[in-house]
Amino acid sequence: MEPEKNILDMLIVGGGPAGYTAALYGARAGLSVLLLEKLAPGGQMGTTDMVDNYPGFPKGVNGFDLAMQMKECAERFGAKTALEEVSALELTGEVKLAHTPKHIYQARTVVLAMGSHPRELGLEREGDLRGRGVSYCATCDGMFYRGKTVAIVGGGNTAVSDGLYLSRLCDKIYLIHRRDKLRAPLPQQKALEQAGNVEFLWNSEVTALLSGDRLSGLRVRNKKTGEVQELACDGVFIAVGQVPDAQLAVGQVACSEDGYVLAGEDTRTNLPGVFAAGDLRKKPLRQIVTAASDGAVAAAMAQEYLDGR
Ligand code: NAP
Repeated sequence: MEPEKNILDMLIVGGGPAGYTAALYGARAGLSVLLLEKLAPGGQMGTTDMVDNYPGFPKGVNGFDLAMQMKECAERFGAKTALEEVSALELTGEVKLAHTPKHIYQARTVVLAMGSHPRELGLEREGDLRGRGVSYCATCDGMFYRGKTVAIVGGGNTAVSDGLYLSRLCDKIYLIHRRDKLRAPLPQQKALEQAGNVEFLWNSEVTALLSGDRLSGLRVRNKKTGEVQELACDGVFIAVGQVPDAQLAVGQVACSEDGYVLAGEDTRTNLPGVFAAGDLRKKPLRQIVTAASDGAVAAAMAQEYLDGR
């Protein structure tokens, strides 16, 4: 396959809030901008039922709706989207290449905005049971468990917001956490305690998924007492953090030991013309608003880089 003749000013990989904000700022500054997204706009935000901590939406906003609005904003200024999965990136030269099954795109700058995906527990049959009782997304799959009993594993923001969402749909919820306190903000914790159908299993870990053709329960061990119990449940929502989706750039840009792209608040990576925005960047707070902020900075830095060439 021959590379496309046209060399873009800015190529963005990933259509979450970081990617689309970079596209908005880049296109609005007059750069030629193409955003490559493998599935649908929004990234993880796109699968969030209610976003209530993004400024400007006093009643909250559905994550997918917000994603479509971000896309529209960027496209209003001329940014283009191609729904193509990137199979390889060549980032070290002055002209960077992105390979997809249909094209080889060329660009002077690249914004890495591939985000992250949920971490697995690493239990036997976890992969087989995905979609048959094992889920990583309460807002995507919660409705399948209406009136049923489910467990949530984890103690961070995702576990607690999943818990609140599922407490309104399901009959009974077990929240299983390896420590004796949650990491989420207090008001959300209180709301979860007050939901009335949530039982907390502290200092506990899931040691096995019980199943026939689909999940039927969990084996849970209390780490303090050593006591083991089997909980019957129809589904388990695993919310134990994120893994960065930086594989396309690994070996080219510098990454941390845990796989995040190393870039400061200016989003510059160690490679000239390559910027990292959003959840795949090493940073202290991963939120929609900080992803959007990164996107704006990355576009400004890309513009500065192009001006200085
Ligand atoms: P997180 O904050 O990293 O929390 C992960 C939780 O899973 C922690 O409680 C951790 O326990 C536990 N955990 C990690 N590995 C485990 C394992 N192998 N087995 C059992 N438990 C394990 O992840 P997150 O909740 O997905 O949040 C990710 C980011 O998104 C955060 O920055 C969060 O603030 C943000 N977020 C924000 C919102 C919101 O504001 N609306 C909603 C969702 C997510 P320990 O506590 O012991 O480490």
